[in-house]
Amino acid sequence: MKIAFIGLGNMGGGMAANLVKAGHTVSAFDLSEDALALAKANGCETFTAASEAVAGVEAVVSMLPNGAIVKSVYTKEVFGNAPKGAVFLDCSTIDVETAKDVNEQATKAGYEMVDAPVSGGIAAANGGTLTFMVGGTKSAFERAEPILQDMGKAVIHAGDAGAGQTAKICNNMLLAVHMIGTCEAMRMAQNLGLDPQTFYEISSQSSGYNWSLNAYTPMPDTGVESPADNGYQGGFATALMLKDLRLAMEAAEKSDSAVPLSARAANLYESFDGAGNGALDFSAIIKTY
Ligand code: NAD
Repeated sequence: MKIAFIGLGNMGGGMAANLVKAGHTVSAFDLSEDALALAKANGCETFTAASEAVAGVEAVVSMLPNGAIVKSVYTKEVFGNAPKGAVFLDCSTIDVETAKDVNEQATKAGYEMVDAPVSGGIAAANGGTLTFMVGGTKSAFERAEPILQDMGKAVIHAGDAGAGQTAKICNNMLLAVHMIGTCEAMRMAQNLGLDPQTFYEISSQSSGYNWSLNAYTPMPDTGVESPADNGYQGGFATALMLKDLRLAMEAAEKSDSAVPLSARAANLYESFDGAGNGALDFSAIIKTY
């Protein structure tokens, strides 16, 4: 297929390269010269404007920083310049309302669109092992699915427009809570004189079992290998977790959902990020205990 890719950063760069590897012709655009140079080296054709990159394509994939940018790029550059009937796949993590709004405007302009945020970080983007949670009509999903398969290991239809973003922020809100709970329990066990590795062995096979403990143990030299064993470098940055928690808190307010525990987790990540730890993996929050 002829596919345009907009936003070739840490995530988008690898995703676009995987589309090339799968045999697609990829027209790439990013505001960054460096990102464009890398995309060119990976086999993409590069353009100096999004409006030019989308000319003549069958699909547009975007991986951009936030909702305001996604809305601006689609409404000002993509609509009207991409051929009528093209399908749009926005893989960025953005707020549910903007995702629904842009989808509605795309439909009115004669296009099909899905929101398809991802689970998995830069390594999964490079390795083509992302999980996509997709919001949109059945017809839009069916057109997007094979393209997403070329960049991921799992593609799940979550529901109508915005449902992908809903799944993403609820998942990451839960992740923040069980990470913090895991940090608190591990540190308290240690303070009470229990060897952290012994606690890991017991709790990871008991009802304390959870992903943060079992698959991403936040304490160095304990449990499974994780960013904790690498000075909390790499992994999922605290600043990105905070971005997702802010989106989750906004969505909780708009949907009148009570989230007292998650709100506390969001506060703790605000403080941790504010203390200059934004670049550290989110499991580094254990250092505050
Ligand atoms: P990034 O900052 O590395 O990449 C974003 C890219 O978009 C940059 O190259 C930037 O130049 C480009 N850009 C910004 N405005 C643009 C515009 N108007 N037109 C064209 N290009 C523009 O960010 P990232 O880490 O690749 O994240 C992208 C998205 O993926 C975000 O929504 C993020 O929340 C989500 N995400 C990231 C991770 C991760 O681990 N990095 C994991 C899951 C989801």
